[in-house]
Amino acid sequence: MDFKQYIADVPDFPEEGIVFRDISPLMADGEAYKEATRQIVEYAKGKGVEMIVGPEARGFIVGCPVANELGIGFAPCRKKGKLPRETVEVSYGLEYGNDILQLHKDAIKPGQKVLITDDLLATGGTIAATIELVEKLGGEVVGAAFFIELADLKGRDKIEGYDIFKLMTY
Ligand code: 5GP
Repeated sequence: MDFKQYIADVPDFPEEGIVFRDISPLMADGEAYKEATRQIVEYAKGKGVEMIVGPEARGFIVGCPVANELGIGFAPCRKKGKLPRETVEVSYGLEYGNDILQLHKDAIKPGQKVLITDDLLATGGTIAATIELVEKLGGEVVGAAFFIELADLKGRDKIEGYDIFKLMTY
């Protein structure tokens, strides 16, 4: 399937000079969303994944249907202050300043094989922080799956050694 026909390219969003890759047309098309999910499910099966973790908010959109299809769990990774129980956290650099991501302390069992999901890999900061959180809890990150990789931003260099699956590259 040519997934790119379901991606809307939005110039100058969220700021001038950036082309935002909007995945909402893909989600809006039942067949395309199902096929995207199916391909990530196949990837996850090959890795023996036992648990999925995704950063808010679009990591949920990618990861939850995959977890559901596999009959395994999904743990949300969220910005500081959103999760109600005891958390682990990691601070990560954004273009301007820092942000903090958290995961519930009991989200992962030590040794569990974890797949991380997000819609898009850009600089890799978000995914590197999510990997760090899973590993803090003793999880084994067996792969990271995305709808889109922005190759020019070299995010994969930030998570060298981790296996990456993506449906599209720009
Ligand atoms: P990174 O941390 O790799 O630089 O940025 C990736 C994060 O920013 C992802 O969580 C993703 O949702 C969001 N993001 C950055 N640029 C885009 C974009 O063009 N399209 C979409 N859909 N998400 C983006």
